[in-house]
Amino acid sequence: MTNNYQAPGLLIQGRWRSGRHAMTVPIINPATAQTLDTLHLANHEDIELALSASCTGFEAWRQVPAHERSARLERGIARIRQNIDKIATLLTLEQGKPLAEARAECAMAADLIKWYAEEARRTYGRIIPARQPNSSMQVHKLPVGPVAAFSPWNFPLVLSARKIGGALAAGCSIIVKAAEETPASVAAMVDCLQEDLPEGALQLLFGVPAEVSAQLIASPIVRKVSFTGSVPVGRHLSQLTARHLKRITLELGGHAPVIVCSDADIDKTVNMMVTHKFRNAGQACLAPTRFFVDRSIENRFNEAFIQKSHELVLGDGMASDTQMGPLANARRVAAVRDLVDRSVQGGARLHQGKSPASGFFAPATVLTHVTPDSPIMSEEPFGPVATITPFDALDHAIQLANQCPYGLAGYLFTDSARAIQRVSERLEVGSLAINGMGVSVPEAPFGGIKDSGYGSESGIEGMEAFLETKFVHLCN
Ligand code: NAD
Repeated sequence: MTNNYQAPGLLIQGRWRSGRHAMTVPIINPATAQTLDTLHLANHEDIELALSASCTGFEAWRQVPAHERSARLERGIARIRQNIDKIATLLTLEQGKPLAEARAECAMAADLIKWYAEEARRTYGRIIPARQPNSSMQVHKLPVGPVAAFSPWNFPLVLSARKIGGALAAGCSIIVKAAEETPASVAAMVDCLQEDLPEGALQLLFGVPAEVSAQLIASPIVRKVSFTGSVPVGRHLSQLTARHLKRITLELGGHAPVIVCSDADIDKTVNMMVTHKFRNAGQACLAPTRFFVDRSIENRFNEAFIQKSHELVLGDGMASDTQMGPLANARRVAAVRDLVDRSVQGGARLHQGKSPASGFFAPATVLTHVTPDSPIMSEEPFGPVATITPFDALDHAIQLANQCPYGLAGYLFTDSARAIQRVSERLEVGSLAINGMGVSVPEAPFGGIKDSGYGSESGIEGMEAFLETKFVHLCN
């Protein structure tokens, strides 16, 4: 244990306890590659206990009136905000992002849950004009039941909060299997929330991912599954839920295109996009990655983008001058390097900044002269890598952008009404930001198309994902 870091236990039936699996995993600080502590994982019995507690938790929580549910969540949010420094420090230590980014993530997680807490009071049904005299036809919105949620390590707070907030606001209980690489920050956030909840309404597990998901999804207790992570795991969980006929929401990453038209303000666009691209060392599903730039401004754009990305200060996220931290783990370093190497072998030109020698760092990387069939144009780098490709006609840029199997976020820089209309209509993405980067806010739906998954989180669509629709026809 270093720097007051301590591995959390599992939250089962309202009590923090140590996992009983024979296997443990080390939690590693990616900036130093040093072990912070050891995480004890859930075994079969731990998961069974969580399942039965999620039943009793659901029965108790669904009966709490919506106003009261909302108030209790608000009290948990206040505690998250009071503990932001502690939670952010844990996040930086175990995940690597700069402390300022960790604080911003924690604040965003609190905002996400707050929006859902407010929305809890607005889960309206509706009345349909009756066909017969003395009868009524109503549509009720009811919590779907116990939820199993799987959140990853890149934004462990925000991506857990989206699921926790929606499920609890709707009146569901939820078992979260968060990422084993980043357990303590999520546990600290969950601890702030659970104080005002019935036992079993909110539970937190860490385990062998394939074992936990197989057991939770096969259980008749679980009624809804929500997963954020990679395409292969998403496909696998989708097959499991299909076998057991369960609803699932899948957010499986992206490879966001950015179309920069000739009238764009180059300095403003570059400043905004370099910050957005290299935030969390590029390990963001909505990170802008494939830049398509009008040929008339290509040279000026490339020069400014490459220079700005190479000026980024890389280092330990705990240091105050660090602008970009390490990748979250050693396998990401190998994966990013492999993708860049294969793309360079295929003819791409490499523009790479410097990176520290120890820890799991990867340099800020820009690839130009990339052909449409280059691996980097279809495989998600999930790291600090951007490509820049010139275009002559907007429709060609849209076509190149749509060649990728992902369809999560997209960005457009222009003041042209025609271009805005064309791209809004034709770009195959779930969220589009024009002259900005705000593709994900608590009150708007966030989700992908194509290989990026299906279903939405946040916004009223995110709430709907945890509700069941029942038609009630009363005849007198
Ligand atoms: P991975 O495929 O091994 O795991 C992705 C996530 O799924 C991890 O959090 C992991 O704990 C979990 N997981 C793995 N097997 C599981 C199972 N059988 N049941 C339930 N959960 C399971 O990949 P990785 O190396 O951790 O991450 C790399 C890739 O994952 C990236 O290339 C990126 O595409 C994707 N990813 C996407 C997001 C996102 O925000 N959409 C977040 C993290 C990772």
